[in-house]
Amino acid sequence: MPLYLGVDDTDSLRGMCTTFLATELVRTLSAWDLIGYPRLLRLNPNIPWKTRGNGAICLRLGRGRGRAFPVGAIGGRTVLAYPRCGARASPSDGLVEAVEGVVETWSEFEDPTTNPAFVLLETPPTPALYWRAVRGIVAKEEALAAVRGRGIWREYKNGRGVIGATAATAWRPRDRTYEILAYRHPSRWGTRRTIPSDAVQALDTSFPSTFNNYDSENGRVAVAPRTPCPVLCGIRGDDPRELPAALASLGGERPDRWLVFETNQGTDDHITRNPREAVPGTTVEIAGIVASHPTTIRGGHVVFPLRWREPIDVVAYEPSKQFRAIVRALAPGDRLRVVGAVRETPRSVNLEKLEVIGLAPLLSKAGNPACFHCGKRMKSSGRAGPFRCRRCGTRRPRSDAVVVPLPRGISTRWYEPPVGSRRHLSMPLKRSSPGSRNERVVGRTPRRASPSFSRGADTVPTTALAFSRAL
Ligand code: ATP
Repeated sequence: MPLYLGVDDTDSLRGMCTTFLATELVRTLSAWDLIGYPRLLRLNPNIPWKTRGNGAICLRLGRGRGRAFPVGAIGGRTVLAYPRCGARASPSDGLVEAVEGVVETWSEFEDPTTNPAFVLLETPPTPALYWRAVRGIVAKEEALAAVRGRGIWREYKNGRGVIGATAATAWRPRDRTYEILAYRHPSRWGTRRTIPSDAVQALDTSFPSTFNNYDSENGRVAVAPRTPCPVLCGIRGDDPRELPAALASLGGERPDRWLVFETNQGTDDHITRNPREAVPGTTVEIAGIVASHPTTIRGGHVVFPLRWREPIDVVAYEPSKQFRAIVRALAPGDRLRVVGAVRETPRSVNLEKLEVIGLAPLLSKAGNPACFHCGKRMKSSGRAGPFRCRRCGTRRPRSDAVVVPLPRGISTRWYEPPVGSRRHLSMPLKRSSPGSRNERVVGRTPRRASPSFSRGADTVPTTALAFSRAL
């Protein structure tokens, strides 16, 4: 069994990136073999103390067995990983000191919100710890209890990073995707990135297993962060073998190094389905009925009340851009399945995607009814009064008005926000639509074809829980 090295909470909004630190670990720990791909885990996107995308990393180290395969390039050398581990590994030969050296060199200690930690475990903790960390809140004590007896941990400042570091080692993939992350030469950090937009747009067709590349409705490249961090770009996909070629096809700024990560991004792992109650800080999938027409409130956010176990407001925030048009088209009586993060105050669900299960007929009055006796068109006798025939005096109730069904503009299927507004963990409909690789493997969530409506935007108010593609 390999050694499990988990690291978290080393970066800040001003710079760095825990995945870059992973490349430094790979470079420094070259006396050890990588077993399997390096891992990048996204944990609960709703925890208030995350910096950006709540990412943590895990490397599995040991003596490799089997046929080595390339997973990256650092300093002009190919990084190889092995499918299996030989003899049981233990943290000897200065491994702990080497990891300490890298973490202490690259962590953003000056930032008050950065609380680095790493764990080095001979056996991984139970996967239940991962599930709690991706869906709920884990206490530091709980993470430490999982570490004890399995190996060592090191923590800095308040050491909160031990939660994510341990959870990253506890992941046993039920579903997985991959991301190739390319990094910039340090001399370019903080400068403008040159990534040809047409090459990014071509990824979807040239490398069909990739996803979330380009936000076509908003004309935005989604593979590159906008922060001053070392990342040049990241391409996500289902087939790790396609990713190096996809990266090479971009042209533009030459990466200094790159590494392919196995990830839980785009897997929906963070969703609690059909919960008994909507617990703040969790992401839920609940089915209910639209209680009244959606309204647009200040800031451009769109809100509607959903009848569920308890009545709850559902909000599509402004950064979800064109997705709000779908929400505005909902009407009372529509049956929905909504996925979103539960917010404490005001209690609401921050919409991540939705399925229209059933559409209520929306009727519009087209005219007054005809008289039963003489066939003449009847007259209205006031707003609430019955219809009356002027010729013979016959009456008919208001409910007899001639109505026509209004076109709804939406249909029964799943809808999601534009590429630039999606959460790291959210499964894009491209992955779950009929015939996709993932539907065959996982067979979960969206059961219908991906939408053709528009996409857009990049960040959401922090209170509304960030959507941004932070790497
Ligand atoms: P990145 O920038 O790498 O995407 P991030 O910077 O947004 O990630 P961190 O800086 O790693 O996030 O901060 C998240 C902190 O929250 C870490 O200390 C981590 O241990 C902790 N954490 C992660 N998930 C949970 C959870 N479910 N419950 C409690 N604490 C958590």
